[in-house]
Amino acid sequence: MKSSPRITLLAGGVGGAKAALGLYLSEHKANLSVIGNIADDEEFHGLWVSPDIDTLTYTLAGRINQQQGWGLENETHQVLDGLNQLGSDTWMFLGDQDFATHIYRTEQRKKGIRPSAIAQDIAWKNGVDIPLLLPTDDVMQTRVLTNKGSLSFQEYFVREQCKVEITAIAIEGAEQATATAEALEAIKNSDLIIIAPSNPVVSIGAILAVSEIRRALEETSATRVAISPFIGGKTVKGPADQMMQAIGMDSSPASVAELYQGCLDAMVIDHEDAESEASLLNSGLEVFITNTLMKTDDEKTQLMQVCVGFAEEVAQQKRLSTAAQLTQEAC
Ligand code: GDP
Ligand code: CA
Repeated sequence: MKSSPRITLLAGGVGGAKAALGLYLSEHKANLSVIGNIADDEEFHGLWVSPDIDTLTYTLAGRINQQQGWGLENETHQVLDGLNQLGSDTWMFLGDQDFATHIYRTEQRKKGIRPSAIAQDIAWKNGVDIPLLLPTDDVMQTRVLTNKGSLSFQEYFVREQCKVEITAIAIEGAEQATATAEALEAIKNSDLIIIAPSNPVVSIGAILAVSEIRRALEETSATRVAISPFIGGKTVKGPADQMMQAIGMDSSPASVAELYQGCLDAMVIDHEDAESEASLLNSGLEVFITNTLMKTDDEKTQLMQVCVGFAEEVAQQKRLSTAAQLTQEAC
Protein backbone atom coordinates (compact mmCIF):
# COMPACT_ATOMS: atom_id res chain seq x y z
CA MET A 1 0.00 0.00 0.00
CA LYS A 2 1.20 3.51 -0.82
CA SER A 3 2.29 5.42 2.28
CA SER A 4 0.42 8.58 3.17
CA PRO A 5 2.33 11.81 2.40
CA ARG A 6 3.57 14.02 5.23
CA ILE A 7 1.59 17.23 4.88
CA THR A 8 2.07 20.72 6.27
CA LEU A 9 -0.85 23.11 5.84
CA LEU A 10 -0.37 26.88 6.04
CA ALA A 11 -3.63 28.33 7.31
CA GLY A 12 -5.29 31.58 8.37
CA GLY A 13 -8.61 31.72 10.21
CA VAL A 14 -11.95 30.74 8.70
CA GLY A 15 -10.75 29.66 5.21
CA GLY A 16 -7.70 28.01 6.74
CA ALA A 17 -9.79 26.13 9.29
CA LYS A 18 -12.05 24.74 6.54
CA ALA A 19 -9.00 23.26 4.79
CA ALA A 20 -7.53 22.05 8.08
CA LEU A 21 -10.78 20.30 8.99
CA GLY A 22 -10.99 18.69 5.53
CA LEU A 23 -7.57 17.11 6.09
CA TYR A 24 -8.24 16.36 9.77
CA LEU A 25 -11.35 14.36 8.88
CA SER A 26 -9.53 12.48 6.11
CA GLU A 27 -7.06 9.59 5.99
CA HIS A 28 -4.28 12.24 5.92
CA LYS A 29 -4.75 13.30 9.54
CA ALA A 30 -2.01 11.02 10.88
CA ASN A 31 0.64 12.87 8.85
CA LEU A 32 -0.71 16.40 9.15
CA SER A 33 0.84 19.51 10.73
CA VAL A 34 -0.76 22.95 10.57
CA ILE A 35 1.07 26.29 10.75
CA GLY A 36 -1.32 29.08 11.77
CA ASN A 37 -1.28 32.86 11.63
CA ILE A 38 -0.52 35.02 14.67
CA ALA A 39 -0.44 38.47 13.06
CA ASP A 40 -4.11 39.09 13.98
CA ASP A 41 -3.26 38.65 17.69
CA GLU A 42 -4.06 41.53 20.00
CA GLU A 43 -4.51 42.34 23.66
CA PHE A 44 -8.05 42.93 24.92
CA HIS A 45 -8.94 43.60 28.58
CA GLY A 46 -5.36 42.68 29.50
CA LEU A 47 -5.67 39.28 27.79
CA TRP A 48 -3.78 37.99 24.76
CA VAL A 49 -6.26 37.00 22.07
CA SER A 50 -5.15 34.89 19.11
CA PRO A 51 -8.19 34.74 16.80
CA ASP A 52 -6.83 32.65 13.91
CA ILE A 53 -5.20 30.04 16.16
CA ASP A 54 -8.38 29.77 18.23
CA THR A 55 -10.48 29.40 15.07
CA LEU A 56 -8.24 26.49 14.03
CA THR A 57 -8.39 24.88 17.48
CA TYR A 58 -12.14 25.29 17.97
CA THR A 59 -12.88 24.07 14.42
CA LEU A 60 -10.76 20.93 14.73
CA ALA A 61 -12.16 20.31 18.20
CA GLY A 62 -15.72 20.46 16.83
CA ARG A 63 -16.50 23.36 19.20
CA ILE A 64 -16.73 26.17 16.63
CA ASN A 65 -19.87 28.26 16.18
CA GLN A 66 -20.61 26.91 12.72
CA GLN A 67 -22.83 29.78 11.66
CA GLN A 68 -20.19 32.42 12.39
CA GLY A 69 -17.16 30.31 11.48
CA TRP A 70 -15.40 31.73 14.59
CA GLY A 71 -16.00 31.70 18.34
CA LEU A 72 -17.51 28.86 20.35
CA GLU A 73 -20.92 27.29 20.04
CA ASN A 74 -23.45 27.76 22.86
CA GLU A 75 -21.68 30.88 24.13
CA THR A 76 -22.95 33.33 26.71
CA HIS A 77 -21.63 36.88 27.09
CA GLN A 78 -21.89 37.73 30.75
CA VAL A 79 -18.26 38.80 31.14
CA LEU A 80 -18.61 41.17 28.19
CA ASP A 81 -21.86 42.55 29.64
CA GLY A 82 -20.07 43.14 32.94
CA LEU A 83 -17.15 44.88 31.22
CA ASN A 84 -19.58 46.98 29.22
CA GLN A 85 -21.35 48.06 32.38
CA LEU A 86 -18.00 49.13 33.82
CA GLY A 87 -17.38 51.31 30.78
CA SER A 88 -14.89 49.09 28.90
CA ASP A 89 -14.76 49.17 25.13
CA THR A 90 -16.42 45.87 24.17
CA TRP A 91 -16.56 45.91 20.37
CA MET A 92 -14.39 42.77 20.26
CA PHE A 93 -17.13 40.21 20.80
CA LEU A 94 -15.63 37.64 23.16
CA GLY A 95 -17.77 34.89 24.71
CA ASP A 96 -17.52 33.59 28.27
CA GLN A 97 -15.97 30.20 27.44
CA ASP A 98 -13.69 31.92 24.94
CA PHE A 99 -12.51 34.22 27.75
CA ALA A 100 -11.23 31.12 29.56
CA THR A 101 -8.90 30.39 26.62
CA HIS A 102 -7.58 33.96 26.66
CA ILE A 103 -7.11 33.99 30.45
CA TYR A 104 -5.22 30.68 30.30
CA ARG A 105 -3.06 31.82 27.35
CA THR A 106 -2.18 35.08 29.12
CA GLU A 107 -1.42 33.28 32.39
CA GLN A 108 0.94 30.89 30.60
CA ARG A 109 2.64 33.70 28.66
CA LYS A 110 3.28 35.53 31.94
CA LYS A 111 5.03 32.39 33.23
CA GLY A 112 7.40 32.72 30.28
CA ILE A 113 6.15 29.70 28.37
CA ARG A 114 6.71 29.85 24.60
CA PRO A 115 3.58 30.97 22.71
CA SER A 116 3.89 27.97 20.40
CA ALA A 117 3.96 25.57 23.37
CA ILE A 118 0.87 27.30 24.75
CA ALA A 119 -0.98 27.04 21.43
CA GLN A 120 -0.15 23.33 21.22
CA ASP A 121 -1.17 22.83 24.86
CA ILE A 122 -4.55 24.53 24.32
CA ALA A 123 -5.11 22.49 21.15
CA TRP A 124 -4.27 19.22 22.95
CA LYS A 125 -6.57 20.08 25.84
CA ASN A 126 -9.36 20.64 23.32
CA GLY A 127 -8.73 17.15 21.94
CA VAL A 128 -6.90 18.32 18.81
CA ASP A 129 -4.25 15.63 18.36
CA ILE A 130 -2.07 16.98 15.57
CA PRO A 131 0.85 19.44 15.66
CA LEU A 132 -0.63 22.95 15.62
CA LEU A 133 2.41 25.16 15.05
CA LEU A 134 3.12 28.87 15.16
CA PRO A 135 5.40 30.48 12.55
CA THR A 136 7.23 32.37 15.30
CA ASP A 137 7.23 32.85 19.08
CA ASP A 138 7.84 36.56 18.56
CA VAL A 139 5.08 39.15 18.41
CA MET A 140 4.15 40.37 14.95
CA GLN A 141 1.00 42.31 14.16
CA THR A 142 -0.78 43.46 11.04
CA ARG A 143 -1.28 47.21 10.79
CA VAL A 144 -3.85 48.55 8.37
CA LEU A 145 -3.19 52.14 7.32
CA THR A 146 -6.49 53.81 6.47
CA ASN A 147 -8.23 57.15 6.02
CA LYS A 148 -9.07 56.77 9.75
CA GLY A 149 -5.42 56.34 10.72
CA SER A 150 -3.32 53.29 11.50
CA LEU A 151 -5.49 50.44 12.79
CA SER A 152 -4.77 47.01 14.20
CA PHE A 153 -6.32 44.19 12.18
CA GLN A 154 -9.16 43.71 14.68
CA GLU A 155 -9.88 47.47 14.79
CA TYR A 156 -10.14 47.42 11.00
CA PHE A 157 -12.05 44.15 10.74
CA VAL A 158 -14.32 44.06 13.80
CA ARG A 159 -14.65 47.65 15.02
CA GLU A 160 -14.71 49.38 11.63
CA GLN A 161 -16.23 46.35 9.82
CA CYS A 162 -13.82 46.95 6.90
CA LYS A 163 -15.72 50.16 6.01
CA VAL A 164 -12.62 52.32 5.75
CA GLU A 165 -10.31 53.05 2.88
CA ILE A 166 -6.99 51.20 3.09
CA THR A 167 -3.86 53.01 1.95
CA ALA A 168 -1.25 50.44 3.00
CA ILE A 169 -0.78 47.22 4.97
CA ALA A 170 2.23 46.34 7.08
CA ILE A 171 3.09 43.30 9.18
CA GLU A 172 4.95 44.87 12.09
CA GLY A 173 7.66 42.80 13.72
CA ALA A 174 7.83 40.23 10.90
CA GLU A 175 11.28 41.28 9.71
CA GLN A 176 12.87 40.69 13.10
CA ALA A 177 10.83 37.55 13.84
CA THR A 178 12.64 34.23 14.24
CA ALA A 179 10.82 31.15 12.97
CA THR A 180 10.01 28.35 15.42
CA ALA A 181 12.13 25.23 14.99
CA GLU A 182 8.91 23.19 14.79
CA ALA A 183 7.55 25.12 11.81
CA LEU A 184 10.89 24.93 9.96
CA GLU A 185 11.17 21.18 10.65
CA ALA A 186 7.63 20.56 9.45
CA ILE A 187 8.29 22.38 6.17
CA LYS A 188 11.61 20.62 5.68
CA ASN A 189 10.26 17.14 6.46
CA SER A 190 7.02 17.33 4.48
CA ASP A 191 6.21 15.67 1.20
CA LEU A 192 3.46 18.19 0.49
CA ILE A 193 2.93 21.78 1.52
CA ILE A 194 -0.63 22.96 1.10
CA ILE A 195 -1.46 26.63 1.31
CA ALA A 196 -5.08 26.95 2.43
CA PRO A 197 -7.58 29.28 0.73
CA SER A 198 -6.81 32.04 3.24
CA ASN A 199 -6.31 35.79 2.97
CA PRO A 200 -3.12 36.06 0.84
CA VAL A 201 -2.13 39.42 2.32
CA VAL A 202 -2.69 39.21 6.07
CA SER A 203 -3.03 35.46 6.79
CA ILE A 204 -0.67 33.58 4.45
CA GLY A 205 1.19 36.86 3.73
CA ALA A 206 1.94 37.22 7.44
CA ILE A 207 3.29 33.65 7.70
CA LEU A 208 5.47 34.20 4.62
CA ALA A 209 6.65 37.53 6.06
CA VAL A 210 8.79 35.56 8.53
CA SER A 211 11.84 35.38 6.27
CA GLU A 212 13.08 32.01 7.57
CA ILE A 213 9.67 30.47 6.83
CA ARG A 214 9.62 31.87 3.30
CA ARG A 215 13.17 30.61 2.70
CA ALA A 216 12.27 27.15 4.03
CA LEU A 217 9.32 27.04 1.63
CA GLU A 218 11.53 28.13 -1.26
CA GLU A 219 14.13 25.49 -0.43
CA THR A 220 12.01 22.50 0.60
CA SER A 221 11.91 19.47 -1.65
CA ALA A 222 8.20 19.13 -0.85
CA THR A 223 5.61 19.75 -3.55
CA ARG A 224 3.84 23.03 -2.83
CA VAL A 225 0.22 23.63 -3.76
CA ALA A 226 -2.01 26.62 -2.98
CA ILE A 227 -5.80 26.67 -3.12
CA SER A 228 -7.05 30.02 -4.37
CA PRO A 229 -9.19 31.88 -1.81
CA PHE A 230 -11.00 33.67 -4.64
CA ILE A 231 -13.97 32.32 -6.55
CA GLY A 232 -15.02 34.18 -9.68
CA GLY A 233 -12.60 36.97 -8.82
CA LYS A 234 -14.33 37.53 -5.48
CA THR A 235 -13.69 36.66 -1.87
CA VAL A 236 -16.02 34.07 -0.31
CA LYS A 237 -16.00 35.97 2.99
CA GLY A 238 -13.91 38.71 4.53
CA PRO A 239 -11.86 41.61 3.20
CA ALA A 240 -9.23 39.77 1.13
CA ASP A 241 -10.35 41.46 -2.14
CA GLN A 242 -10.23 44.91 -0.54
CA MET A 243 -6.76 44.14 0.78
CA MET A 244 -5.52 42.87 -2.59
CA GLN A 245 -6.76 46.10 -4.15
CA ALA A 246 -4.96 48.11 -1.47
CA ILE A 247 -1.64 46.53 -2.45
CA GLY A 248 -2.34 47.12 -6.15
CA MET A 249 -3.46 43.63 -7.12
CA ASP A 250 -6.68 42.06 -8.32
CA SER A 251 -8.46 39.11 -6.73
CA SER A 252 -7.33 36.50 -9.23
CA PRO A 253 -5.44 33.23 -8.77
CA ALA A 254 -2.59 34.78 -10.80
CA SER A 255 -2.18 37.58 -8.26
CA VAL A 256 -2.20 35.03 -5.42
CA ALA A 257 0.50 33.06 -7.26
CA GLU A 258 2.53 36.26 -7.64
CA LEU A 259 2.43 36.86 -3.87
CA TYR A 260 3.54 33.26 -3.22
CA GLN A 261 6.22 33.36 -5.94
CA GLY A 262 9.08 30.94 -5.31
CA CYS A 263 6.98 29.00 -2.79
CA LEU A 264 4.66 27.22 -5.24
CA ASP A 265 4.63 24.36 -7.73
CA ALA A 266 0.92 24.25 -8.40
CA MET A 267 -2.46 25.85 -7.81
CA VAL A 268 -5.98 24.60 -7.31
CA ILE A 269 -8.47 27.10 -8.72
CA ASP A 270 -12.23 27.25 -9.04
CA HIS A 271 -14.17 26.53 -12.26
CA GLU A 272 -15.28 30.16 -12.16
CA ASP A 273 -11.65 31.27 -12.56
CA ALA A 274 -10.78 28.81 -15.33
CA GLU A 275 -9.63 31.72 -17.53
CA SER A 276 -6.64 32.11 -15.19
CA GLU A 277 -5.30 28.69 -16.16
CA ALA A 278 -3.24 29.86 -19.14
CA SER A 279 -1.38 32.58 -17.27
CA LEU A 280 -0.66 30.22 -14.36
CA LEU A 281 0.65 27.54 -16.75
CA ASN A 282 2.76 30.23 -18.44
CA SER A 283 4.34 31.12 -15.13
CA GLY A 284 5.42 27.49 -14.75
CA LEU A 285 2.74 26.29 -12.34
CA GLU A 286 0.61 23.17 -12.66
CA VAL A 287 -3.11 23.86 -12.39
CA PHE A 288 -6.11 21.87 -11.22
CA ILE A 289 -9.60 23.26 -11.79
CA THR A 290 -12.44 22.13 -9.54
CA ASN A 291 -15.22 23.37 -7.31
CA THR A 292 -13.41 25.03 -4.40
CA LEU A 293 -16.34 26.22 -2.32
CA MET A 294 -16.41 24.26 0.95
CA LYS A 295 -19.68 24.40 2.83
CA THR A 296 -20.22 20.94 4.31
CA ASP A 297 -17.63 18.75 6.02
CA ASP A 298 -17.87 16.35 3.07
CA GLU A 299 -17.01 19.17 0.67
CA LYS A 300 -14.04 20.10 2.85
CA THR A 301 -12.71 16.54 2.91
CA GLN A 302 -13.36 16.04 -0.80
CA LEU A 303 -11.54 19.21 -1.86
CA MET A 304 -8.58 18.41 0.34
CA GLN A 305 -8.39 14.82 -0.94
CA VAL A 306 -8.48 16.12 -4.51
CA CYS A 307 -5.77 18.62 -3.62
CA VAL A 308 -3.52 15.91 -2.11
CA GLY A 309 -4.10 13.60 -5.11
CA PHE A 310 -3.22 16.42 -7.51
CA ALA A 311 -0.12 17.36 -5.48
CA GLU A 312 1.06 13.74 -5.58
CA GLU A 313 0.69 13.73 -9.37
CA VAL A 314 2.70 16.94 -9.59
CA ALA A 315 5.36 15.38 -7.34
CA GLN A 316 5.49 12.31 -9.60
CA GLN A 317 5.89 14.51 -12.70
CA LYS A 318 8.69 16.43 -10.97
CA ARG A 319 10.48 13.14 -10.18
CA LEU A 320 10.08 11.92 -13.77
CA SER A 321 11.36 15.13 -15.33
CA THR A 322 14.35 15.21 -12.95
CA ALA A 323 15.14 11.58 -13.85
CA ALA A 324 14.83 12.36 -17.59
CA GLN A 325 17.13 15.36 -17.17
CA LEU A 326 19.74 13.27 -15.34
CA THR A 327 19.61 10.57 -18.05
CA GLN A 328 20.06 13.21 -20.74
CA GLU A 329 23.02 14.74 -18.91
CA ALA A 330 24.64 11.29 -18.51
CA CYS A 331 24.36 10.50 -22.27
P1 GDP B 1 -9.75 34.78 8.33
O1 GDP B 1 -8.43 34.80 9.04
O2 GDP B 1 -10.87 34.35 9.23
O3 GDP B 1 -10.00 36.01 7.53
O4 GDP B 1 -9.67 33.59 7.32
P2 GDP B 1 -8.60 33.15 6.26
O5 GDP B 1 -7.54 34.14 6.06
O6 GDP B 1 -8.19 31.76 6.58
O7 GDP B 1 -9.51 33.03 4.99
C1 GDP B 1 -10.15 34.10 4.37
C2 GDP B 1 -10.28 33.74 2.91
O8 GDP B 1 -10.85 32.43 2.81
C3 GDP B 1 -11.17 34.66 2.12
O9 GDP B 1 -10.41 35.25 1.12
C4 GDP B 1 -12.22 33.72 1.51
O10 GDP B 1 -12.47 34.04 0.17
C5 GDP B 1 -11.55 32.37 1.61
N1 GDP B 1 -12.50 31.27 1.74
C6 GDP B 1 -13.37 31.06 2.75
N2 GDP B 1 -14.09 29.95 2.50
C7 GDP B 1 -13.66 29.45 1.32
C8 GDP B 1 -14.03 28.31 0.53
O11 GDP B 1 -14.92 27.53 0.89
N3 GDP B 1 -13.37 28.12 -0.64
C9 GDP B 1 -12.40 28.98 -1.07
N4 GDP B 1 -11.80 28.71 -2.23
N5 GDP B 1 -12.03 30.06 -0.36
C10 GDP B 1 -12.65 30.29 0.83
CA1 CA C 1 -7.49 36.18 10.48
